Amino acid sequence: MLETDVLIIGGGVVGLSILEQVPSKWSALLLERHPSFGRETSSRNSEVIHSGIYYAHGSKKTEHCKVGRNELYRFCQERSVPFKRCGKYVVATHPDEEQSLEELAAHCEYEVVPFQIIGKTWLESKAPLLKVSQALFFPLSGILDSHQFMSALERSAKEQGKLIAYNTEFVRLLEKDPWVVEVCENGKTFKIQSKVLINSAGLSAASISNSILNTDRYIHRFCRGRYFQLDSSFRGKFESLIYPLPQKDGLGIHVTKDLSGSVRLGPDTDWCKGANLENLDSFYECNWDELKGEFTSFVRRFMPSLEPEHLNPGFTGIRPKLFIEGKLYSDFLVEHQGHFIHLLGIESPGLTASLSLGKEVAHLIESILQ
Ligand SMILES: Cc1cc2nc3c(=O)[nH]c(=O)nc-3n(C[C@H](O)[C@H](O)[C@H](O)COP(=O)(O)OP(=O)(O)OC[C@H]3O[C@@H](n4cnc5c(N)ncnc54)[C@H](O)[C@@H]3O)c2cc1C
Repeated sequence: MLETDVLIIGGGVVGLSILEQVPSKWSALLLERHPSFGRETSSRNSEVIHSGIYYAHGSKKTEHCKVGRNELYRFCQERSVPFKRCGKYVVATHPDEEQSLEELAAHCEYEVVPFQIIGKTWLESKAPLLKVSQALFFPLSGILDSHQFMSALERSAKEQGKLIAYNTEFVRLLEKDPWVVEVCENGKTFKIQSKVLINSAGLSAASISNSILNTDRYIHRFCRGRYFQLDSSFRGKFESLIYPLPQKDGLGIHVTKDLSGSVRLGPDTDWCKGANLENLDSFYECNWDELKGEFTSFVRRFMPSLEPEHLNPGFTGIRPKLFIEGKLYSDFLVEHQGHFIHLLGIESPGLTASLSLGKEVAHLIESILQ
């Protein structure tokens, strides 16, 4: 039987970050069921480095976002991962929304997230496609190449002698203390024993925790976000990202760009009715033509010249929304029970927060094993 000190389930950005930061005096192995890292939510997002303006005071989302964003910029700089600190505007589209913008500004002051108040005339001269009432500018927001970031984490973990098993799925727990699990690699099952077991399995994490802890306490409900790509006439039209004020269920369809300059709209928030882990893959598809009208009318509030013909189908990402005993838990959950650690509800800003989440888990491992 294979033995290790630390066993991590899940090779998304968070699992990789944990693996990279496990103190190297401990042996560590990461299991990922796909042939390579980041094939699920970690490669289906806006690739935005968030500054930490939306989440409740004292929440893990706020703290990990603020610390994680600084660490991410440093990591990208030091390891030559492409990124751009392009900044972002949150816009009030109508004078009626200015009060909400002021409330957001007050929250950011309290959280010590830097911003500037921007007038309509100045912003519309910088980005003539926009029509707004007022805006806030957040200079610490940016974008990164998330694939290269994960690749750098993988490389660094391997250089430290840590192991990654691709095409290898966690199947079930066999024994506790020490943990013995059954895994399946290309149809062959075998056992692994570990002193610490970490569940960082993204969308599947709640179900895995329930099976390990023999409970039905944790539920992930799935909420998808879809993106359209704007046609090439929009390239170079926006120096910074453009966000509306946050909406009831999410940040609101926003305008982002990738490092190549192509511009996209999204994500929306669509609770995937009837979704479960077995049929979840079918929710990555949708009727893009039907959706164009909805996106266009929302974004026209701040970009009035947008036409449905400008939109080309993009991609879909799925958020794991955590419910505990039936109630929405809107923060990240990082818990440990003995030598078992799990990370649940790791939705946005999980990419931004990944290095900071990895550090928290590395400290937990240190305190458990020493
Ligand atoms: C639409 C959308 C937009 C977003 N935009 C942003 C953004 O701009 N900025 C930001 O900071 N965050 C953003 N996020 C959030 C961010 O993408 C996620 O929080 C982050 O990618 C989660 O990483 P993860 O490693 O926890 O999960 P995942 O990337 O889902 O990785 C989990 C891994 O576990 C593996 N796995 C599952 N079960 C098993 C098993 N039994 N055995 C082995 N392996 C298993 C899966 O294959 C998967 O690779 C966005 C999310 C969405 C959905």
